Amino acid sequence: MRKIIAKILYFFFYKKIEKCSLRHDAILSIYGHDQQREPFEKLMAWLVNHDYTFITPEKVYSIISGKEPLDKKYVWLSFDDGWKSGYDNVLPVLEKFHIPATFFIASKGIEDGYYWYSKAFQNRESDLYDKIDVLWKIPNAERAKIIDQLPAYKGPRITMNEEELQKLNMSGFANFGNHTHDHVMSDKCSKQELSDEIDKCSLKMKNIIGDDCTFVYSYPNGNLDQNSVEVIKEKGFKLAATVKIGWIKQGDNPYDLHRNEFNNGCLEENLMQIYGLWTPFFNRIKRLFRMKNHK
Ligand SMILES: [Zn+2]
Repeated sequence: MRKIIAKILYFFFYKKIEKCSLRHDAILSIYGHDQQREPFEKLMAWLVNHDYTFITPEKVYSIISGKEPLDKKYVWLSFDDGWKSGYDNVLPVLEKFHIPATFFIASKGIEDGYYWYSKAFQNRESDLYDKIDVLWKIPNAERAKIIDQLPAYKGPRITMNEEELQKLNMSGFANFGNHTHDHVMSDKCSKQELSDEIDKCSLKMKNIIGDDCTFVYSYPNGNLDQNSVEVIKEKGFKLAATVKIGWIKQGDNPYDLHRNEFNNGCLEENLMQIYGLWTPFFNRIKRLFRMKNHK
């Protein structure tokens, strides 16, 4: 069904996508999570065929700070969390097209083999919370306590292990960023808590790949507030990525970088996603329905 909707919408958005694909006055910034190979490979092939140059965070920084010109069509590709598919499905495509990507790693996931939200989802009938959504909105210490009390995570490993991270690093196509140790909501932590979380991730990454990953940060779940930005700056990060839809332009705030998410849908859907057309369209539809229901 979703595929049919995507194909119909693509028909209406085709001209707009063509126009977006010619744009070279801003960096196209796109990210994924748990990626299947086929839709990812199709999207990368499309971008390569449309003359995009894939760039690293260092290049993003040079461009937005005006040290290097925005002289062609650039794309910055990143992945959040450290899913096992990063090694199994993403790496072969990076190698095939010779393109770089940034992996933002939540290091406790690498240790445990799962993320706290996967454990929460498995225990979604728990008496400890009404809805899983609540866990993203409460103070971090409270969330961690609830997660600790839940029955153990069951199931296969969903994150990369240390060896896979090392191989990803050795491939020469991956660079790494900090995503905190326990995938904490930056705005639900005290400054000290967030600082400790970032340090733990840095230390763990230093032990695994020999780099402490303190150049670029990705706010887990996109959550940020003034305190978290201050911590990131104090730690010496040069860039931080959000999940706000949009492009990256010269002169942009380096601690508020926009990114558009792609997923495992068909190519037509992903093109609408990466150019920031899909989500706003459905949000407008949702608002319309809400207005109708209020009448
Ligand atoms: Zn994340």
